[in-house]
Amino acid sequence: MRYWIETLGCPKNHVDSDKLAGLLVAQGYEPAFSAEEAELVVANTCAFIEAAREESIETVLELADRKLANARLVVTGCMAERYGDELAAALPEVDLVAGFNQSLLAPATPVTLRAKTPAFDLLNLPRPRASAPWAYVKIAEGCDRRCGFCAIPTFRGDQRSRSTDEILTEARALVEGGAREIVLIAQDLASWGHDRRRAGRGEALEVLDVGGTQPLIELTRALTREVDRVRLLYLYPSGLTTGLIETILDTNVPYFDLSLQHASRSMLRAMRRWGDADRFLERIAAIREMSPDATFRSSFILGYPGETEDDQRALLDFIESAQLDWAGFFTFSSEIGTPAFDAADHVPHELALERLREVTELQDAITARRRDALVGTTQQLLIDAPGVARSVRECPEIDGVVMVEGSLNVGSMVEGKIVASRGVDLEAVVV
Ligand code: SF4
Repeated sequence: MRYWIETLGCPKNHVDSDKLAGLLVAQGYEPAFSAEEAELVVANTCAFIEAAREESIETVLELADRKLANARLVVTGCMAERYGDELAAALPEVDLVAGFNQSLLAPATPVTLRAKTPAFDLLNLPRPRASAPWAYVKIAEGCDRRCGFCAIPTFRGDQRSRSTDEILTEARALVEGGAREIVLIAQDLASWGHDRRRAGRGEALEVLDVGGTQPLIELTRALTREVDRVRLLYLYPSGLTTGLIETILDTNVPYFDLSLQHASRSMLRAMRRWGDADRFLERIAAIREMSPDATFRSSFILGYPGETEDDQRALLDFIESAQLDWAGFFTFSSEIGTPAFDAADHVPHELALERLREVTELQDAITARRRDALVGTTQQLLIDAPGVARSVRECPEIDGVVMVEGSLNVGSMVEGKIVASRGVDLEAVVV
């Protein structure tokens, strides 16, 4: 029996797919080369915003067309968790809509999938060998924050951190399988371990729960001893303590993925989030002072309810001052179950798009300048695929890449001199 998994959405979903694949292999399945050849076809969906939901539905319908006539089609992931019953009713082509707590092989009996906290986590399932010299490791599921725009806590539940042991065991297996870079992910990475400590399960953090320090610091230090590169994604800005900054700089991957969302103080308060432009700029300047080579990425929402022209100006000013290397911009998507859903002062979508175009144009020019400035420098490159590499400045799958000659061994590390910049990508020759 062969399976095919189609994954939509964020890196966290890709890790879930890896875990599902590991589970299916343990149950005797083999991976298929395409959806057309599999007896079990799985769509791991994303429900983050309206556009992601539309893409998920289109993918399910396309898989229904492509699959073998007698193949089983299963929909899982965030859409299944959030809209399970409606989805099952609306998609008769689908054999099973499976929430996080349900086996893909279970009979298609109606189930209520929207338990507040899924009873079954994919987190500790085995996973197959990494297919590239880098791999995501999800260290927690769920989130204890309640940002105004975000529905994740309503269907992923409160934060549940994995233990240090489980994370290190998974990371070691990935390294043995060829991974040279581990990318840590969670909904709110900097808060990893806080739920365990609160619940009196600090002992499960073992060596990491030393002296009341931020648990992520010791976890990152422990992982740094196991693998060449450790990269941290999704850092809520108030969680970026001095200790964590120093730790990230010590990993030799001075890459800061800050989840900022806006720069206007009033917008951030409306979003129920911490910080403002001055605080963010202060922190970025402090990091640059410690490590002038530090790379910064962030993401921002345009058109949150109540956003004014002054807020947009504040964001543009911030983007200009911060000179981030990378940034992603999204228009606000109104999600059922979030505080912003009932807000009266929604921004017209056209206006939000116009604001998005304005900030994107500004950031694209900054990113291009920062990429150009790397021409002539020498960077350590990890060969991800024939002809494609990354320095520590590029996060896999999200940022640009460094193009190199095609004969270099995948998984090797080389010193490369940057000879040209092409849009977000760079070109290097081995030195
Ligand atoms: S921290 Fe992230 S995952 Fe948590 S509620 Fe806010 S936006 Fe959602």
